[in-house]
Parts: sequence; structure tokens; C-alpha cells
Amino acid sequence: MRLLILGPPGAGKGTQAVRIAEHHGIPAISTGDIFRANIKGETELGRQVTAILSSGGLVPDEVTNAIVRDRLGQQDAGDGFLLDGYPRTPGQVEALDEMLTDRGVGLDAVLELTVDTDEVVARLLQRAQEQGRVDDTEEVIRERMRLYAEETAPLSRIYRERGLLCQVDGMGTVEEVTARIESTLADVVPAESAAD
Ligand code: AMP
Repeated sequence: MRLLILGPPGAGKGTQAVRIAEHHGIPAISTGDIFRANIKGETELGRQVTAILSSGGLVPDEVTNAIVRDRLGQQDAGDGFLLDGYPRTPGQVEALDEMLTDRGVGLDAVLELTVDTDEVVARLLQRAQEQGRVDDTEEVIRERMRLYAEETAPLSRIYRERGLLCQVDGMGTVEEVTARIESTLADVVPAESAAD
């Protein structure tokens, strides 16, 4: 299966992505994780994006698109993948369309986790306080929420128009949300593709 998962910061996307990907035997590909690993490993890319991640901004599309293109070209993504945190802008949607067209494949579904924003902000702030996380200050959380509303939320409209959007209630326990996602995916008709 070729899937995307959308949802605001704090919606539990990363947790769900890993569970769903494991269940379907496909890699969960998180652009945020790739950037964080590069920062940790002090690579050239890491140096390029450190300030952007700590301010809650978005890494430029050219950089992000090149990373995803490379990652999707790796063997384990040949039969499917779940992209988490990508695309985040209309430009990234276009770039992903091109990558998939080049491979003669299409997306099967786009999952969107819906949450109560006030509750999620409160939860993130509490976690930041408890864990002393520098990237979860109120200012950074609000900036990430603002960017999500402005840049990423319109993506759900694009995918709805293509008949791919599956909205799933993201509130509740991890298990409850996974069960909702799995029951949604059970109804998904796989995209036709030249490669399958
Ligand atoms: P995430 O773990 O998905 O919340 O991503 C953490 C941070 O990585 C974001 O706040 C951005 O700074 C950066 N990032 C992750 N994915 C993207 C993307 N698709 N486009 C631009 N920046 C991204």
C-alpha cells in the first residue's frame, strides 16, 4: 500500500504511522525523523536544517523533495510506504505526484487524523514542561500549528478532490485510533498501477 498520514503536530501521527506500517509490512518514512537523525549525526544536511527545526519553520521544498525522492528510490519502499510529515506544502504535493508518476504508481489513500486543537496544544505544553523539551516551547508549538493550518491543512482539500482522503478521529487511546485507521483501510480500494 502507498499511504500518507496528515494531521497537526501532537495528533499522534508518528506513533500511528509506525503501527500501521508494521502491520502492512511497509516502511514508515518520516521526514522529521530523517532531519533529526541528520542533526544528531552532524551531517551537512543536519547543519543546514538545525535552525529551521528549532524555530518550528519548514525546510525548503527543494531540500525536502530531494530527500524523499532518494528515500522512495530505496528497495524497501518498492512495494509500498507510509509517508509521515510529507507532503506539507502544495509544492511538495506536486513533487510527490511527479515521483509517483515516474514510477508508474499512485497513492491508495491519504489518512488525516482529526483532533481538538486546543486539547492538543495543552497536551504538548504539558509534555514540554514535564520533559523540559526545548523544541516544545509554547512559541514553537504555536508556530508549528500556524504553519500546519496555513500550509498543510489545504492539502486535505486536494486529496479529498482526488477521492483519496480518509479522515479518522485522532482522539482517544493509541489502540482506539489504530483500530479506527485499520477499519478505514479495510475499505480502501488499491490504486491501479503499472508496477503492481
Ligand atoms: P515532524 O516530526 O514531522 O513534526 O517534523 C519536525 C520538523 O521537521 C518540522 O517542524 C519541520 O521543521 C521539519 N519538517 C519535517 N517534514 C517536513 C516537510 N515535509 N517539509 C518541510 N519541513 C519539514
